[in-house]
Amino acid sequence: MFRLINQASRWKIFACLLASGLIGPRAVSYGQNPTPDHPSIVVHGQTYTPSSILERNMGTDADQTTAFPPHRIIGNIYYVGTRTLSSFLIVTPQGNILMNSTYERNVPVIEKSVTQLGFKFSDIKILLGNHGHSDHQEGDALVRQMTGAQTIAMAEEVPALQALRPGGKEHPIDKIIHDGDKVTLGDVTLVAHLTPGHTRGCTSWTATAQEAGKSYNVLFGCSLRPPAVVTPAIAAELTRSFTLVRALPCDVQLGDHGAQYNMQAKYAMLKAGAPNPFISPATCMAEADIEEAMFHALLDEQEKAAPR
Ligand SMILES: [Zn+2]
Repeated sequence: MFRLINQASRWKIFACLLASGLIGPRAVSYGQNPTPDHPSIVVHGQTYTPSSILERNMGTDADQTTAFPPHRIIGNIYYVGTRTLSSFLIVTPQGNILMNSTYERNVPVIEKSVTQLGFKFSDIKILLGNHGHSDHQEGDALVRQMTGAQTIAMAEEVPALQALRPGGKEHPIDKIIHDGDKVTLGDVTLVAHLTPGHTRGCTSWTATAQEAGKSYNVLFGCSLRPPAVVTPAIAAELTRSFTLVRALPCDVQLGDHGAQYNMQAKYAMLKAGAPNPFISPATCMAEADIEEAMFHALLDEQEKAAPR
């Protein structure tokens, strides 16, 4: 039984990687040769390869499905995800917003974290996501079944979302939005920014949160990780996205994987009683720096390999 679950979850991860383009016909040889792991880049003193970034994002099977201690990030924004897959709860007087249901099997884990924080899962009125890969939005159908929440999707992400059909369930999409559209519930407004490249409709969200009488800009960034093969269309998308993301107001940077914003280290600082470590405008673009360097390194490699 455990073996079966393990194999099934491995296949899902493989399918996600395949969908994400990190592995594909050019990069994988089905067990004969190891997947090429290059280029290698150094950003802010750290070395990264495509595999190291993926490993950092995903962790182990257990990391993907084990709750990380739920905690308040800032103001009315809480973390309710697993050790490596982010899920955020935004609390308002008119009900709550959940961002990223992650894998369907994680929904009860997220529900427990919401309850542990003193909130009701059934108070989730709106369900949002960063992008339509199974590790971020596979659980949408189940969350909608359990809460009746309205599901909102970026137009360009609809095909990717519709391809997510856990147990044959149709992916719920109640409302389609476009770049720059706003989603409001109670006293919270989130702005949707189309930041494609990782997927066609990758959506970064911005909002403000209040703490100790001050207002802070929060960025819920979508992955900027380039696929292994960067087509001219994807290159154009990513070029636009890096410029756009760098122009977004940001005091608190969050991401669809905790590793994109050093969640575990910041949480340890929070536990140690430090001033809110999530407020860190100076490091808001650290993840964009890594992914943009990888993007250019991949492009350089492809150009050198191209027939002349
Ligand atoms: Zn992804």
